[in-house]
Amino acid sequence: GEFQTVDVPASIETVLALLSHKLSTGIEVVRQYEGDRELFCSSALLNQVVMNIVGNAADAMGGEGRIMVRTASSAETYTIEITDSGPGVPDALRERIFEPFFTTKPVGAGTGLGLAIAFSVVQAHQGTLAVGSGPDGGARFTITIPRRNRP
Ligand code: ADP
Ligand code: MG
Repeated sequence: GEFQTVDVPASIETVLALLSHKLSTGIEVVRQYEGDRELFCSSALLNQVVMNIVGNAADAMGGEGRIMVRTASSAETYTIEITDSGPGVPDALRERIFEPFFTTKPVGAGTGLGLAIAFSVVQAHQGTLAVGSGPDGGARFTITIPRRNRP
């Protein structure tokens, strides 16, 4: 999509509203928006990335738990971190989850494309997408995008 100046926390709120059916009663979403709000990027693509990662977090928790969405910026980079309180991603799967069509969900429940798409979108922004663990052992996805990005 077209690059433009995007209010990232506002975009995240739009995505969270679109996912409200998945973020039902038992899931608490904690926001921690720090640093600058604005990033020069593709708004449509950023929404897609956040949607895929937050959607996965909701799926991983079976209706109960917490999702933390954090933004931070420095002069050089913009970071969006999404941490859940689900079971986490086993070490052995941490590379494979970004492969197209890799899924651990039942047939018909997942295409296995969400993270592959997210990975290529972040790469198209010269950024990185990494998986790790949160403080409770859940999954943490960290998107880092250079701030002096140009199309
Ligand atoms: P899909 O959601 O269709 O399975 P994705 O590419 O979005 O495809 O995710 C691939 C796999 O990565 C999932 O099937 C799951 O095994 C793992 N995964 C992704 N996000 C999480 C998460 N937050 N917690 C645990 N596992 C996850
Ligand atoms: Mg998915």
